Amino acid sequence: MSSLSEIPTPTIRVRVPAKINLALCVGALGEDGYHPLTTVFQAVSLHDELIAQVDEPGTITVAMSGEGTDEVAADDSNLAVRAARLLAEQHGDEFGVRLSIKKSIPVAGGMAGGSADAAAALLACSVLWDLDVDPEELREYGAELGSDVPFALLGGTAIGTGRGDKLVPVLSRGAHHWVLAFADGGLSTPAVYRRFDELSPRGGSLEMPTELLNALAQGDSVELGKHLRNDLAEAAIDLRPSLQTTIDVGLDCGALGAMVSGSGPTVAFLCRNEEAAVALSTTLGVEGVARAVRRVAGPVAGARLITSCA
Ligand code: ATP
Repeated sequence: MSSLSEIPTPTIRVRVPAKINLALCVGALGEDGYHPLTTVFQAVSLHDELIAQVDEPGTITVAMSGEGTDEVAADDSNLAVRAARLLAEQHGDEFGVRLSIKKSIPVAGGMAGGSADAAAALLACSVLWDLDVDPEELREYGAELGSDVPFALLGGTAIGTGRGDKLVPVLSRGAHHWVLAFADGGLSTPAVYRRFDELSPRGGSLEMPTELLNALAQGDSVELGKHLRNDLAEAAIDLRPSLQTTIDVGLDCGALGAMVSGSGPTVAFLCRNEEAAVALSTTLGVEGVARAVRRVAGPVAGARLITSCA
């Protein structure tokens, strides 16, 4: 006869991608304290992994390992814990979960790693607790936690308006090859927006980036490279001038385009193909212009279950 301790604990495992913004058009600061955005997100093949296991009702905890986790509090302020708690509160509160997260997405790197973990926790807990929640409802909960959370659930390539949380998928043909240059230390998103307000008090244009969308629809990486746009780049570079050197080295070495990812300090380089990405990542490593270099491809799916049993 098997003892209670041998009964397997139900375990849910979720993989969730980082995002880059191919376009990030930022309007002037509104009276609500937010900046209106028109952005084009792409999910890329750099993933955090989250495991969720049932715990006593009311107990929601997280443990973290991997990239940058000494900088993240594993307490109630953690976005994954906040996501699980929100879901529990909305469904009667009698739930508990033990979360563990293996991070590969850099913390405060402009790749929405915290939002990705919140998205993973929403999906994992909804399955673990057997809740009747459809994907759209999950995205609505996500938007309450942060404007990048809905996209981490959706994945692919999508336009985001409003605060970046109103999403419409866009046609993107083929795979794009990116090299990511991680910087030493993060950049605070609020600090980058504050600098943006000082540098561009009237904000940027929120028009749809049609040339970029056409390049995506045609799968034309050369055109795409010409139309990458990030209105926060100037502010991020102002706060971290070394990013300009990183960008210049990558462009000199044949990248089709370069941009600061989101609020930085990660820099994303678009490459013609996988071979070019291998060559560029080697050169960036040799030149010493980044703390670490990763090759990724996009678009990839949003948060997904890997296994659903112990
Ligand atoms: P964004 O691009 O969405 O503005 P980011 O990628 O620059 O964000 P994140 O890694 O999401 O930055 O971290 C932003 C803040 O969120 C950090 O100060 C971090 O301490 C906090 N945080 C809370 N929970 C997490 C988590 N699970 N993973 C990473 N950061 C978290």
